[in-house]
Amino acid sequence: MSSTLDAPAAPSDFVVINPTSGEEVGTFANATQGEIDAAVRRAKAAQKQWWGMTSDARSRALWRWSELIEEHHEELATLDARCTGKVIRDGLAETRNAARYARWWAGKTDKLYGEQLADVPGRMSYTIREPLGVFAVVLPWNAPALGSVSRTLPPLGCGNAVIVKPSEFSPLSAQRMAELTVEAGMPEGLYQVLIGTGAVGGALVEHPGVDGISFTGSVPTGQKVNLAAAAGFKKATLELGGKSPVVVFPDADLDDAALGVLIGILMNAGQICAANSRLLVHEDIAAEFTEKLVERAARVVVGDPLDPGTQVGPLVCRRQYDKVMDFIAAAEAEGATISAGGGRPVHLAEGEGLFIAPTIITDVRPDMKVSREEVFGPVLGITTFGTEEEAVALANDSEYGLSSYVWTSDAARLHRMAERLEAGVVHGNTYLVMDVQLPFGGFKQSGVNNAFGNEAVEACTQVKRITLRTGEGPLPSPWPGV
Ligand code: NAD
Repeated sequence: MSSTLDAPAAPSDFVVINPTSGEEVGTFANATQGEIDAAVRRAKAAQKQWWGMTSDARSRALWRWSELIEEHHEELATLDARCTGKVIRDGLAETRNAARYARWWAGKTDKLYGEQLADVPGRMSYTIREPLGVFAVVLPWNAPALGSVSRTLPPLGCGNAVIVKPSEFSPLSAQRMAELTVEAGMPEGLYQVLIGTGAVGGALVEHPGVDGISFTGSVPTGQKVNLAAAAGFKKATLELGGKSPVVVFPDADLDDAALGVLIGILMNAGQICAANSRLLVHEDIAAEFTEKLVERAARVVVGDPLDPGTQVGPLVCRRQYDKVMDFIAAAEAEGATISAGGGRPVHLAEGEGLFIAPTIITDVRPDMKVSREEVFGPVLGITTFGTEEEAVALANDSEYGLSSYVWTSDAARLHRMAERLEAGVVHGNTYLVMDVQLPFGGFKQSGVNNAFGNEAVEACTQVKRITLRTGEGPLPSPWPGV
């Protein structure tokens, strides 16, 4: 392995390393407290300007942003590939999708409605929705360009300003995105980016001038952010980790299911919050289904992310690579069997990047570390079940509750499972579906509030109730004689 992959960062600077080549992408300085304060001041001024525009003008700016994202989508995808090893075919799909997110919000920003409330005769009440003000948007590294659009649009679309803190592993695409917002006609300072490690994210979410928080990342960091939000009485949307189950019944189309399960665990080298990392398969088909998975996994193209034929790229950094390898070793030590992969792909020699072959682990028990904790790598653990009851119990036996997947041809069973699974999203006979119009939020430790769909409006606005006396005559008084 090239030694640059392990290059230490200077105390207040950090180095971004390309996980495929080991080359340095750049050295970045952590934003200072003074820069954070200045960003918040600028954001406050820009937010007033933004909310003071007509909703049509905001809509046009968001639409223009979508066009610019589309025009620059290859450039943005390439920045992510350099920083994180995201394969270019996924990066291009994500950046094109980012443009769609902006189009949807361009159509949504002028449709934020309050309600006219039932009130007594002689009095009228209604509500209006107002933006909170300045949002801190703290992002992970697994979909940097898409995240810098999908997580900023709900606050922006609802009239807020955003200060984005991209991951220290992937700062480039968010910086470019900020430039595009100005070109699109949004006020200077409405979309700002602060570069830094977790300390900068912490200082930002705690800042008294920040009014709302959108955080996407791990559960331990999410807990800290949630505490900071509570201390400052700030609304927060938390999109956290997962350990999502995929349940395969004997009546499923097993070829479809095998393809779906593999895509669901291998996309982005498994570095996806909603990856279906726990396969629960009926004991009658376990051997046949595992064979299908192993046979297909061998055909997955792992390699250079910039090659359009590549399907799975490297892990993002040395720390993540070591963590995933430790999970595999722990599973083996606990008595599980490595049925495919388990280490570097044979065709990629040491020094060619942080690659791990598609890994399938069988004989996995629910109490094993690989069943309980988020791996965030191309590692599928397989556990068998006998009855539907048992499948539900196994699926729900987790602190997480982000996504879930069921494969069966029995429609009634699909609905039964959907009602019983403890997860924010249930998929039937498909791998992960995410779209701007579809809510996406976790149950249990996987999150708080929703980042997508109409549901996202709630956490980005506050409701003001307005009551007016409309009745004629003197003010009715409960105090006679006064
Ligand atoms: P992470 O929690 O380590 O970091 C996320 C972000 O938080 C980074 O920008 C980091 O610098 C910042 N941060 C670190 N400490 C902070 C603090 N004290 N206060 C504020 N910000 C702080 O997560 P990661 O490793 O970058 O990303 C992987 C995790 O993200 C996984 O757990 C994955 O499941 C989760 N994720 C969730 C979703 C979702 O929608 N639910 C989507 C993508 C990723």
